[in-house]
Amino acid sequence: MSTTDLSNSKIVATYRERTSRSQALAAEAKQLLPSGITHDDRYLKPYGIYVERAKGPRKWDVDGNEYVDYYGGHGALLLGHNNPTVLSAAQGALERGTHFGANHPGEVRWATLVRRMVPSAERLRFTSSGTEATLMALRLARAFTGKKKILRFMTHFHGWHDHMTAGQAAHFDGTPTIGTIAEIAANTVLLKPGDIAALRQTFAEHGDIAAVILEPTGSGFGRVPLSPDFLAALRDVSAKHGAILIFDEVVTGFRVSPGGAQAKFGIKPDLTALAKILAGGLPGGAVCGRKEILDELDFDAATSKGREKIAHPGTYNANPVSAAAGIAALEIVESTDACEKANRYAAELRDRMNEVLAQERVPWVVYGTFSGFHMFLNPQRRDLGDGFDPLALDHAELTANPKTLLQKVRVAMLVNGIDLNGRLSGFASATHGRDEMEQTVDAFRAALHMLREEGELPRR
Ligand code: PMP
Repeated sequence: MSTTDLSNSKIVATYRERTSRSQALAAEAKQLLPSGITHDDRYLKPYGIYVERAKGPRKWDVDGNEYVDYYGGHGALLLGHNNPTVLSAAQGALERGTHFGANHPGEVRWATLVRRMVPSAERLRFTSSGTEATLMALRLARAFTGKKKILRFMTHFHGWHDHMTAGQAAHFDGTPTIGTIAEIAANTVLLKPGDIAALRQTFAEHGDIAAVILEPTGSGFGRVPLSPDFLAALRDVSAKHGAILIFDEVVTGFRVSPGGAQAKFGIKPDLTALAKILAGGLPGGAVCGRKEILDELDFDAATSKGREKIAHPGTYNANPVSAAAGIAALEIVESTDACEKANRYAAELRDRMNEVLAQERVPWVVYGTFSGFHMFLNPQRRDLGDGFDPLALDHAELTANPKTLLQKVRVAMLVNGIDLNGRLSGFASATHGRDEMEQTVDAFRAALHMLREEGELPRR
């Protein structure tokens, strides 16, 4: 077996040959940006591709290489790149003005659509990102309940603000991550995902839980999946103890179904964080939920209750260009089978990739739910047998793809024209079709052959 050395890899050498302009840009970027990047998930050794343009399910780098794109704008692009209707709505808005410093009709139309589509949305407040949406959801919950603690689950991602960093990718003991404050981490209760008994016990032991927040289909869009039973238990227990249930539907919203995971599973959270598809591929987010909780943001409601209102400015909240793109995207999601199409594609892709793994006798698995897929490199060399049930595996094992091998698999896929995200996961869009399916399956097989040649796979 190889020691997975990137410097002596033929795959990496091929990548360098194909991407010389990306390599030059990466060298320049390193002098300007930490690690030369602008989002941690884009960190790749030896360097990532620089993309010039994109259309539908595909994108092209500065060296002219074409890729089938499963990065999907970090999940924002259910409708693929540059959906013509979304594009012309955004272009029209740009021409009318990028910022009015005033209310505008678009935000009313946008909010109307969200409320119609998302079952729990009685009121909403727009933000500029998903991070801001979860931050506001937590603040609303604390203000409304007068309680302090937040319950969250290991590996679940809710953005990068101070409350939500410990226990996502590290610090599973709940200690604060570097640069954050110990008191904040101390008021966050971290639980293993999916453990209903631990959940009940935690609520019994802590009287001051303001909110519980989670990704409703499991962390990383189902890399560590959750059973719907767990959601039902969570709804029940949080209501019983007067804690606010927050669904972070930044990824699942308008993707799992037009009404998100809450519509799919028939479970109403008290608050929901939204972003990504919400704004049609442009920056934007929202927090929505029960009117009495959102009233914490309402001037008149606060005055009539004699309470302090939560302050919430934000220069780009409900930006008119994002609103126009969002309206166009949501109208399509609501009136077409876009979610189902992406779900069907991903289900078939998972099956087809697993067929390749079986034919090549590689003890890995591709799994996922809805329009997502995840590659599991099986670091403990488990006998995966006839079926693979990720619910039976611990979150630590499901998120433990060995780093260097993972990067090599990513590079091997790039060399073969496929872009996966930084964790070897992908999002399908409604624009992925037959050509992308066949190309991906062939590319996956070719990538496995390259990896086998370098001794990265067990011999047949
Ligand atoms: N929650 C989840 C579930 C996410 O996946 C993300 C982003 N990947 C966020 C919150 C943060 O959203 P943003 O990047 O817009 O701040």
